Amino acid sequence: MKIYNTLTRQKETFTPIEEGKVRMYVCGPTVYNLIHIGNARPMIVFDTFRRYMEYKGYEVNYVTNFTDVDDKIIKKAQEEGVDASEISTRYIAECKKDMEGMNIRPATVHPLATQEIDGMIEMIRTLIEKGYAYAAADGTVYYRTGKFASYGKLSHKNLEDLQAGHRDIKVTGDLKEEPFDFVLWKPKKEGEPAWQSPWGEGRPGWHIECSVMSKKYLGDTIDIHAGGEDLIFPHHENEIAQSEAASGKEFAHYWMHNGFLNIDNQKMSKSLGNFFTVREIAQKYDLQALRFFMLSAHYRSPLNFSAELMEAAKSGLERIHTAAENIKRLQKAVDAKASDTKAACEKGMSAEEESLYEASEQFQKKFEAAMEDDCNTADAVSAVFELVKYINTNVSSDHSNAYLQKLFERLKTLCDVLGIQLALKEEALDADIEKLIQERQTARKNKDFARADQIRDELAQMGILLKDTREGVTWKRA
Ligand code: AMP
Ligand code: ZN
Repeated sequence: MKIYNTLTRQKETFTPIEEGKVRMYVCGPTVYNLIHIGNARPMIVFDTFRRYMEYKGYEVNYVTNFTDVDDKIIKKAQEEGVDASEISTRYIAECKKDMEGMNIRPATVHPLATQEIDGMIEMIRTLIEKGYAYAAADGTVYYRTGKFASYGKLSHKNLEDLQAGHRDIKVTGDLKEEPFDFVLWKPKKEGEPAWQSPWGEGRPGWHIECSVMSKKYLGDTIDIHAGGEDLIFPHHENEIAQSEAASGKEFAHYWMHNGFLNIDNQKMSKSLGNFFTVREIAQKYDLQALRFFMLSAHYRSPLNFSAELMEAAKSGLERIHTAAENIKRLQKAVDAKASDTKAACEKGMSAEEESLYEASEQFQKKFEAAMEDDCNTADAVSAVFELVKYINTNVSSDHSNAYLQKLFERLKTLCDVLGIQLALKEEALDADIEKLIQERQTARKNKDFARADQIRDELAQMGILLKDTREGVTWKRA
C-alpha cells in the first residue's frame, strides 16, 4: 500500500512497525457545538482507510480524541451559564450520534483530554527536565521551540523564517523567551476549569493533549498520525516537537492530511460562518449520501460542497442499492419458481456462472488497486459502479441462487470497505422484528408478562401478527 506522507512529500510504501498491525491516531474535534460537514471529512476518510486496512487483514488500533477543554468550550459555557463539562459532554454525545448516522465506526479508544491531565503534567515535567520547556513567572509553561533542532520538518518551514515572521508580533508583557515558543500549560483564570500542577492551578495547551493521548494508547512511536491539513502547522509540528523531545524517538512514521471541504470555493469553517452542520444535512439527505459524496473525491483534494454534487451522490448511491435489491428480488423469484426451495438454495453454480462470477473479480481488483494507491476512494467508487453495471447485465431469475448470492457478497464486501450499507429496507425490518420476538420470549421466560404483552402490542401496531406454535413463535404481516 502506498501512502502520501506529508513528512517526505511523497508516496511511500506502507511498512508497519509491527507486522500485521497498524497504530493510528486521528485528531478529533473540539466539542463546543454540533460538528459541521468539514469536521466530518477526516472522520469519514480515515474511517474508510481503517476499514480498508482491516479488509487487508491488519489489526488496527485506531485512536481519536475529543478535545473537551478549550477556550471555545469555556466561552460557550459562560454564555449558557453552565459548567464547561456540561457543554463538552453534550456535544460529545451529539457527535457520536452524527458519527453513527455516517456509519463511522467507534474508535478503539476515544480518549478525552480532561481525563489525561496526569500524563500531560508528566510529559511537561520531562520536557522541563530535558531543557525543552520552561515555566514563566506567571505559571505559564512554554515549549522552547528553538531547542528542537528539526522543528519545521513536517510543515517544511524553517525556524529563521518563522522567527522573522514573528518578530513584529511580540506581545508586550509576554513572558516567552522567544516569540515562537508555544504554551504547554496555562495558569487558571477566574471561572475557568483548572487542575493542580507543579506550576500552579491551570489547564493544558491544546498541542500537548494529542502527544500524551497518542503515547498512552499507542506507544512512543506510531505508524500513522492523521488529521485535516490545517493541523500541519502549528498543531502537528508542535506535537512532533513535544513527543520527540520527550521520548528521544520518532513520533509517527506517516502523516496523512485530508484536504479541505469548501463551500463556494471558500474554506468551510465555524469562524467564517459558512458551514452546514451534519445535523442540517441529515434533515434533507440520508447521511449515507454525505459519506458517499465525501468518498467520491480523493481525500487530499479540496472538495467543494454543493447541492448538485449531493444530488449526484444520492443518485449514485441509489444505483448501488437498486442493484443489491434487484439481486435479492431475483433470489426470491428463483426460490418461488423452484418446487423445492431447499434444493434451489443448495444448487451450486453452473460452469457458465462460475466463469461469469470469476470475471467480476476484475472490479474487486480495480477497487483494491485504487485503494492501494494512497486510498484513492474516487477510483474505488468508480470500480464499484463498474461492478454494479456488470451485475445489472448479468443477473436474471434463470440463474442459480448461489451465483446471485456470490455477486451480492462481492458488492457487499466492497461497500463495507467504503462504509456504505446495503441493508435492504425489508430485511432490516425483519431483523428488528426477530429481535423483538426474542425479547418477548426472554420476558416470558422471566415471567415478565407485562413486558411480553407490551411487545406483542408493539408488534401488532407494526402490523405483525404472532402465532405461538409447538415449534416456537412464528409471525406474519397482517
Ligand atoms: P476542529 O474541531 O476545528 O479542531 O477540527 C476537527 C477536525 O476537522 C480537524 O482534523 C480539522 O482539520 C478538520 N476540519 C475542520 N474544518 C474542515 C474543513 N472545512 N474541511 C476538512 N476538514 C476540516
Ligand atoms: Zn491533535
